[in-house]
Amino acid sequence: MKKRAIFFDRDGIVNVRKIGGYITNANEFEFRNDFIRLFKFLSNSDYLLILITNQQGIGKGLMSEDDLTLIHNYMQRNLLLKTRRQFDDIFFCPDLAETGSQRRKPKPGMILEAIDKWEIDVHNSWMIGDAPSDIEAGNKAGVKTIFIAPDGDNMPEADYCLTSLAEVIELFAG
Ligand SMILES: [Mg+2]
Repeated sequence: MKKRAIFFDRDGIVNVRKIGGYITNANEFEFRNDFIRLFKFLSNSDYLLILITNQQGIGKGLMSEDDLTLIHNYMQRNLLLKTRRQFDDIFFCPDLAETGSQRRKPKPGMILEAIDKWEIDVHNSWMIGDAPSDIEAGNKAGVKTIFIAPDGDNMPEADYCLTSLAEVIELFAG
């Protein structure tokens, strides 16, 4: 039987976004409180929880893949402590925007890889992100999309436009 999944963007969804910069070590990684509440809410659900993140800081030479692994190990360890659940899988794209990489959002490559690897039920799965590129990637992969815009920006291509992850809990609870 195919599994449902929720795909999460990272910066601005899981952790507080660093304006104009890249998170290059775990000290700069600060969980969003509303994300922890959402993850706790989902911790016993049968959804696969999968991270889909562009990290071109690697392509730019600002950090290495090992640095990113350390950050994600920190994230996973603390998620387990705070919510008793971790991401089931992590996909990242180190490629620079100008390479036109098929894996880099807004291209759907990473989501398609995950769908293939985990035999995911596309039509009952979701992508949650705070950038138009997240929504575009989700739409191209065929999953439902949730655009998080704290200042209430609308994105007609998204299935839902919400202002916080607290509203995502309401959506999944209802
Ligand atoms: Mg983001």
